[in-house]
Amino acid sequence: MRKALVVLSGGQDSTTCLFWAADKFGKENVSAVGFDYGQRHKIELKCAKEICADAGIPYEVIPTPIINQLSVSSLTRADIPVEETKPEGAPPNTFVEGRNLLFLSYAAIYSKTHGITDIVTGVCETDFSGYPDCRDIFIKSLNVTLNLAMDYNFVIHTPLMWINKAQTWKMADDLGVLDIIRDKTLTCYSGVLGEGCGHCPSCTLRKRGYDEFIKMKEGK
Ligand code: ZN
Repeated sequence: MRKALVVLSGGQDSTTCLFWAADKFGKENVSAVGFDYGQRHKIELKCAKEICADAGIPYEVIPTPIINQLSVSSLTRADIPVEETKPEGAPPNTFVEGRNLLFLSYAAIYSKTHGITDIVTGVCETDFSGYPDCRDIFIKSLNVTLNLAMDYNFVIHTPLMWINKAQTWKMADDLGVLDIIRDKTLTCYSGVLGEGCGHCPSCTLRKRGYDEFIKMKEGK
């Protein structure tokens, strides 16, 4: 059986991917990594750690302070408030330049070292927030680059790439982990667990998706 590494932030999307991977590859073949890049909310690393401990999946934190040093974003600078609306023609100020490029590259190095071929990430183009490194074309391009860079057959999986937030909730429900995703993940830009602060862009998206999913589930 192939082994899979999940890039886990402790948010709704990557945690859903964790359980997707456990289902697809078998829990015993799955491990997860998180990145400590000086993010605004260290609590997300704690969330990820607890979720993995409860699920019996190994989890390791890789320190990457260089990302914080190089990138100026509301997620890496405490004195920059998170913008509630996205500026015209540019990514929101929560965008951390190069983050997924670096995360996936570090994940690939880690994977090859540990004999892992499959890398799972929760990036999604459907609820596209304007993050260029969440696009499918970027992931496909990076997959080729990583294979060439390390002469290895990585396969990057993006189970959420073409589904919306409501469908991500449905996936969690189908995997039998709806409660875990709803109560134990951190998506909120203000660092509030579960339901979150209720008004940051991330909470708004999460709640809209959840409400839509519940309507779908109840057949309304
Ligand atoms: Zn929030």
